[in-house]
Amino acid sequence: MQIKHQKTYRNLFFDLDRTLWDFKTNSEVTLNELIARHIPELSQRFQEFLDLFYRINDNLWNQYENGILKKEVLRTKRFEDTFAQMGIHANGLSQKMSDDYITESPLKTALFPHTHETLSYLNEKGYRLFLITNGFTEVQVVKIKHSSLEPYFEKMITSEEAGYQKPHRKIFEYALKNTHSRKKESIMIGDDLENDIFGARRFGIDTVFFNPEKIKYQQQTTFEIQSLADLRTIF
Ligand SMILES: [Mg+2]
Repeated sequence: MQIKHQKTYRNLFFDLDRTLWDFKTNSEVTLNELIARHIPELSQRFQEFLDLFYRINDNLWNQYENGILKKEVLRTKRFEDTFAQMGIHANGLSQKMSDDYITESPLKTALFPHTHETLSYLNEKGYRLFLITNGFTEVQVVKIKHSSLEPYFEKMITSEEAGYQKPHRKIFEYALKNTHSRKKESIMIGDDLENDIFGARRFGIDTVFFNPEKIKYQQQTTFEIQSLADLRTIF
């Protein structure tokens, strides 16, 4: 049971992927459809494909976040490398898979439980809601439109627009400045201990760690929730 805070928060900054938008489910549904469409013989080995794809994608994302890789390269290379490691000769299919994945995955609409009712509750209570996301702008816009999240939020700040990725302090600085928010009235809600929690805390704002898997961790956070519905006990 969490005790209601003493502070007066006005500006709630949400992460998008894996906090509201169910990235894993949406991604897997899309990949499954694409494999069935383009390489049906691989459908039998879908789980193997998925495990490998995620591992390769994570590595390439790190390189992208460190400025080593361009996003266009990342998008195709994750498929090329996965197919190559599986011994599949997918001439030209990597590009097609990549294009379709980028187009179709953001159209998927799986959200974490209680997303709509919680955001609607927070809107009614008069909080200002914003998004701070490390995704690509054009992709994140499609996601929030299709999953009907857009109306809850006053503004979405993407790393592409800010020029910095979370956990860099400059993206938080950019977000607060562009929403005319004060630090002491602001709080970051997210699932990523490094990007969302550590980043926001170091910048100097309070945090809510969304921890649906109940993982163990060392980082300091102002609040922790297991379900989005728990936000009602804080705000
Ligand atoms: Mg996230």
